[in-house]
Amino acid sequence: MRFTLKAAVTSVWIGALSIGASHAADMKVTLLGTGTPTPRIGSFSASTLVEAGPERLLFDFGRGSTIRLFQKKIPLGSITASFITHLHSDHVVGLPDMWLSGWIGTPWGARKTPMVIFGPKGTVAMTENLTKAFSEDIRIRTDDEHYPAAGVAFAAKDIEPGPVYEKNGVKVSAIEVNHGEKIKPAYGYVIEFDGKKVVLSGDTKPDQHVIDAGKGADLLVHEVAIIEPELLKSYPNYRAIEDHHTSPEDAGRIFSEAKPKLAVYSHIVFATVKPVQDVPEDALAARTETTYAGPFIIGRDLMSFVIGDKIEAFDAGGHPLTPLSAQR
Ligand SMILES: [Zn+2]
Ligand SMILES: [Zn+2]
Repeated sequence: MRFTLKAAVTSVWIGALSIGASHAADMKVTLLGTGTPTPRIGSFSASTLVEAGPERLLFDFGRGSTIRLFQKKIPLGSITASFITHLHSDHVVGLPDMWLSGWIGTPWGARKTPMVIFGPKGTVAMTENLTKAFSEDIRIRTDDEHYPAAGVAFAAKDIEPGPVYEKNGVKVSAIEVNHGEKIKPAYGYVIEFDGKKVVLSGDTKPDQHVIDAGKGADLLVHEVAIIEPELLKSYPNYRAIEDHHTSPEDAGRIFSEAKPKLAVYSHIVFATVKPVQDVPEDALAARTETTYAGPFIIGRDLMSFVIGDKIEAFDAGGHPLTPLSAQR
């Protein structure tokens, strides 16, 4: 019976390996985490998967990014390269989980080669310190379960703005963005493949680099902060939070100037006077539409976008989505 069960589980995962972008030259973007440090079950913290050709690229290791990949039946060890926007915890707390769980010799882990990571200054030091912090787990699993040493090694690099990765026709470039004076460097990323372009803003205030990169983009995934103005009076701390991010009106201006084929919100910071569980989507859409009339989508975890001859958007269940402005 055990053999049967194992065979069945393995065949599910082998079947899953063939599921990627729907056409060889398509790009597919999946939002693994659209949230922030707030520990919400419905929106994990920042993480985005970009699939292009044989490349599976992960941008940020937010909380629960391993769980979201598992939900998509994508083995953790099959990520070909990872990129960190900046070293705020909501973008890297999932790194040790991705690294160590991805090393475990199962159909959903099974990394046998070093984990490739690019990120701002401090990334290499973090991987070295994690290796020290988890040295007992590495010793135990090596002795006991005999996983290959290479699979738990890091191939990490601190990067500067500019081209950082080029393989199998996919090119990834880092752009410097403005997340505040004390959070430097902070990067956004541009991913190009077969004439298609995806831009991820990272965490940023309104930044000309994002607008420039977003021109001609198929998909511009931008962060946003929607904080009710009344809160700023009673809780001045929200002013500092808002000041590190982009308001819906400013995001709308950025979309209007860059004119991506489709704009998507991810990393949605929100605060309301009356506490709510979910993103106040109506207010976010209304405030965005004061400065932008083009198509956009308010991201939710596990939404995906397939970029081929046209751009198709799907909800977490795989059902087609219609962009907001196109509904009116
Ligand atoms: Zn941040
Ligand atoms: Zn963040």
